[in-house]
Amino acid sequence: MARVVVVGGGLGGTATAARLAKLGHEVTLVERSAGLGGALGTVAADGFRWESGPTSTLLPAVLRDLFRKSGRPLERELELVPLDVVREHRFEDRTSVRLPGGSRAAQLAAFDELAPGLGRMWVDHVATFAEDWEVLRRHYLEVPWRPDDLPREVAARLDGRESLRRRLRRTLRDERLRMVAAHPFVVAGHQPRDVPGWAGMEAYVEQRFGAWTVAGGMHRVAEALENRLATRKVSVLTGTEARDVVVRSGRAVAVRTDAGDLDADVVVCAVDPRRLPALAPYVARTMPAIPPVVCHVGIEGELPGGLPDAPYDVVVHGDPLLVVRTGGTAPDGHHAVTVHGRGHLAEDLLVALARRGVDLRRQLVARVDRSPREQVLEWGGSPLGVLWQGRRTVRRRLGPRTPVPGVYAAGAHATPGSGLPFVGLSAALVAAEVGPA
Ligand SMILES: Cc1cc2nc3c(=O)[nH]c(=O)nc-3n(C[C@H](O)[C@H](O)[C@H](O)COP(=O)(O)OP(=O)(O)OC[C@H]3O[C@@H](n4cnc5c(N)ncnc54)[C@H](O)[C@@H]3O)c2cc1C
Repeated sequence: MARVVVVGGGLGGTATAARLAKLGHEVTLVERSAGLGGALGTVAADGFRWESGPTSTLLPAVLRDLFRKSGRPLERELELVPLDVVREHRFEDRTSVRLPGGSRAAQLAAFDELAPGLGRMWVDHVATFAEDWEVLRRHYLEVPWRPDDLPREVAARLDGRESLRRRLRRTLRDERLRMVAAHPFVVAGHQPRDVPGWAGMEAYVEQRFGAWTVAGGMHRVAEALENRLATRKVSVLTGTEARDVVVRSGRAVAVRTDAGDLDADVVVCAVDPRRLPALAPYVARTMPAIPPVVCHVGIEGELPGGLPDAPYDVVVHGDPLLVVRTGGTAPDGHHAVTVHGRGHLAEDLLVALARRGVDLRRQLVARVDRSPREQVLEWGGSPLGVLWQGRRTVRRRLGPRTPVPGVYAAGAHATPGSGLPFVGLSAALVAAEVGPA
């Protein structure tokens, strides 16, 4: 049995702690804020409640596996709900498409409605990622990788020179389809020219396995994990900030916190490693992907701008790129709406949105603005992980192992990247690497 100290109580840290405790280790988790969950939380004001970060996830199997491998099945604690329509894309030429998840045929029909022939173009494009997915799933996403000893087919993909922008230009001759395909990266703060082409396989994952939410809100995943940590007797130290990993004779022996040193045989870094001096030199060439400008609003009366019939997620393309999420909770006769903005934000987010046909201003009864800086300060780093800076970024992220013996890396800044499914996978990779007690 190893003494494990996990740094960070977001999904990455709590999922790793739950798995390692189930494997028989003695686990302590340190979290600098008063509660667990990190970005997986809520913001509340004036009777409204908004999700502070994620509202849906891909690859529900990752959450199912986490709950099963750490104790009881997920279905005993949470209800995973598939989204028939994942999101609506509105384009500057006033056309729009509602993208169904989990069905190739439904996506083909939806894009054909946008213009005849686009359905075939889209599904053919998505199909080009099937092999990428199978290869990377087997050798990179689901087993701890050895960056210096990769099967040729994996290295060919991870080191390939083609950017996502070039790949989309090659396979999608319609600008709107390219915007749909690039949008997950653009909303997460990346430039498609800096994202490797294989990363576009998210579109394949979405088409094949769908997008899912949790009844009551995604933050309930964090609540369920907090209970799971209590069941597994993980010692949770909230209000405790890790300052560094103590390394002696070339090996991690403790985590230095503002409340003293915690002895450890194994340390899991589930925060931005640039913030822990012992790890910072190894990630000096990475940059964080910065959160969007966020505005949570409470609306009185019916939602305007075609939102009542729209799915939870509406992406309004253009510059700035705006995302409208309508899934929060509100008093009777009201609605909780979250707006994210990316790009050139020279005016208030709600003014920019009104120009695009969704005017929330007249019905506004509550408003909470959250700048990227405020979010990063609150979460002690960016939940969006490492910024794509070209094909080499994949090898610059740490995890599941790190160059410091005894230290492992999970979470959005680690392999295989940010977003709930990948952060969930990072925890499984660390657990596989550390192994049972
Ligand atoms: C606005 C927004 C919307 C998003 N929407 C989606 C979505 O719809 N679907 C999706 O899949 N993903 C989404 N994401 C991404 C997803 O939320 C993250 O990738 C994921 O939650 C990151 O989890 P994490 O544990 O790595 O990091 P975090 O959630 O950032 O957690 C890190 C934790 O570590 C703590 N911490 C930091 N430093 C220290 C320290 N030194 N000592 C102790 N504790 C420390 C922090 O307080 C925090 O609790 C969104 C992110 C944002 C910001």
